[in-house]
Parts: sequence; C-alpha cells; structure tokens
Amino acid sequence: MKKKEMLHWLDEKDPDQLDGLFRKARACAIEHVGTKVYFRGLIELSNVCSKNCYYCGIRGGNPNLARYSMTPEEILTCARQAFEMNYGSVVLQAGERRGEDYAVFIEEVVRGMKALSDGRLGITLSLGEQTSETYERWFKAGAHRYLLRIETSHPELYQKIHPGNHSFGERLDCLRALKRIGYQTGTGVMIGLPGQTREDLVNDIFFFEREDIDMIGMGPYIPHADAPLARQSDLLMPEAGVSMENRPSGLSGFRYDAEDQLRLGLVMTALTRLHLKNVNMVAATALQAIDDEGRERGILAGANIIMPNITPVKYRAKYQLYAGKPYLDEDACQCSHGLDRRIRATGAEPGYNEWGDSPHFRFGKNDLRSA
Ligand code: SAH
Ligand code: SF4
Repeated sequence: MKKKEMLHWLDEKDPDQLDGLFRKARACAIEHVGTKVYFRGLIELSNVCSKNCYYCGIRGGNPNLARYSMTPEEILTCARQAFEMNYGSVVLQAGERRGEDYAVFIEEVVRGMKALSDGRLGITLSLGEQTSETYERWFKAGAHRYLLRIETSHPELYQKIHPGNHSFGERLDCLRALKRIGYQTGTGVMIGLPGQTREDLVNDIFFFEREDIDMIGMGPYIPHADAPLARQSDLLMPEAGVSMENRPSGLSGFRYDAEDQLRLGLVMTALTRLHLKNVNMVAATALQAIDDEGRERGILAGANIIMPNITPVKYRAKYQLYAGKPYLDEDACQCSHGLDRRIRATGAEPGYNEWGDSPHFRFGKNDLRSA
C-alpha cells in the first residue's frame, strides 16, 4: 500500500469503510500467519526503573510509587503457572535496570524457566536497553525473543518525550544488536502521542519494514497523571531543549481523545498487517484499557498474539504504565476460560502449547510459502 493511501486510512472515520479495512487485514493475517492466536503470559517482574520517560507511570522519577522486585522463586512460580495453563511462551518485562548483578539474576531466571518446562516454554524479554554482551548472555541462557519499542521512529519527537540523556540513536543501536545476536526482534510505537502526526505514524510502519522487524507490539499512548507528558503545559519540556520556536515542523501539539486513540490503534494494526504481512503482532492491552473488547478488536484488525497478564495480583497496581491499565485478575487461572472464549468469539483459534514464532523470522519478508 502506498503512503498516500495509508494517510487516507488514518483519517477515515466511516465505520463501514473501517470495517472493510479490518476484514482485509484479518484475512491477510490468516493467509500469512494462520488462523491461530498465540499466548505470551506477561510477568511484570519489577517496577524499579533507572529511566525517566516522560509518558510512563513507573518512571524512576515518580515518587508516588512503592517499588517492588519479584524474587526468582516468585517468577518461576508464575512461569510454571503459565506452562500449566498451556501458554506456550512467557514475556519477562520490567523497568530498566543494568549492571552485572541484574544480568546474572535474569540469566538464572531464564535458565530456571527453561529447566522447569524441559525447554518447552518460549521466552521473550522486554527489559529495555542493555549492552550487547548482556543481550548475548540472556540469549545463550535461552531467551529467544526481545521486545524493545522504539516508541516513535521520529527522532525529534522521541527526544521531546524523553529527558535529554535518553538517546534515540542508542535505542536503535540496541534494536539492531538484538537482531544481529539472533533474537526474534520486536519493536513498536505509542500511537496518539501529543504532537504526533499521521505522517509520523505511517513512517513508523516503514521503519518496521526497514529494520526488518519480526514482531510488533504497539498501542495507544494513554496519559498517566504522575507523568509529565500528561500535563499539557509541560508539552514544551524545556529540559529536552525543545521550545515552541524550534519544534520540528509538522508537530502541531494536538492530542487525541479516547475514541480517536482506539480507532488509530486499530487502523495502525490493520495497516501494519497489510504492509508487513507475516510478522507477529500483539493485540495491545492498552486497547483493552480504552475498550473492554479492545483486544478482540485488535485480533479482528490483524493481530495474532495476546499477552495475558500473569503477574501476581498484589503487584499489579504498582505496575501502572498508564492510567486505567487493567489490573484485575481476569487473565489468570480461574478466568483463562474467559480469555479462550473471547478469542474464539473472533473466529480465531487459541494456539495452546505452541511457540507461534513469527514466520517473518523463519522465512524473511519474501515468504514464498504464502505468496
Ligand atoms: N522498561 C522497558 C519495558 C517496560 S515499559 C522499556 O521501556 O522498554 C513497556 C512499554 O510500555 C514501553 O515501551 C512503552 O511503549 C509503554 N508505555 C509506557 N508508558 C505508556 C503510556 N503512558 N501509554 C502507553 N504505553 C506506555
Ligand atoms: Fe522505565 Fe520503560 Fe517506563 Fe521508560 S517506559 S520509564 S524505561 S519502564
């Protein structure tokens, strides 16, 4: 699809037209990644974070938050639970921490998860920016996928939503290092950031293509009261050195309402599916924060991965990346039937006990099987 057509779709509001787009995207997903939806049980192992991203509720600079770190035993108990629930894979996610002790801690947890499942549990990490050596160690320990969102592929907008010492270039280098090491590499963006244009969003899709990304995890940006980006007056963010006068052209500073957020999230999902075809794509939890059926709608717009939250309930309120993040126990054991039903209601089949790797990773973008 041409850039111009993508821009048109990001402006489209007619429900019938949008429905047509989503149907095409779902058909494209079925053709290129199959009818199944695969599980990645999400373990949010710590909210300790050394970074200060302006949009995030667990940023290190938020004083209104008690910090927690799960013990290796707690993490392994969660992983065992995921395995017993027939989720083929888990994702370990946390705020960003670095250093030797932390590298060893994660390495041992990854080994432990492999051991308890006889090597059968797939492991995705989402632990931020690390050195190549650390990424390599975790890969050797058994992690085989990594999610590192670029957040926006527009370097100036990136700088605007982060403090001056967070670097777009370094994040991009990390993404490329992950690919080089051999991880199935995932990235994504936040949709509807203040000042983000439709053109920026289309460029994000071309960024995924250029970087030869295997997995996409993107969703709406949802303000968090304790994060500076949520406060309009802070949009100028003098700390980032971006004043009204030298703001990049095209960044008008508008923001989106919830309905726009949901629509844009679904349209971006559909356009990304139609453009990249055989990547894995998550039905974002942030979609569900806006609409109770957001994840199902994500599947119907071309997503094929779901990340049920299996973090112990007692920690969930402390891992609020954004306001209204669902934190009840609806995804854990007793309600997994509910999730099964929700997936089947879309016409998709839950892919229990399977890794469901991205065909893009296995076959590249010119996947002849589905040509
Ligand atoms: N610390 C790691 C992983 C945890 S944060 C990292 O940053 O990579 C995971 C993702 O949460 C981030 O990549 C970001 O895209 C998303 N996120 C943070 N704050 C958000 C908000 N207010 N709205 C929507 N997504 C948000
Ligand atoms: Fe930390 Fe990730 Fe939140 Fe940034 S987005 S503050 S790195 S948890």
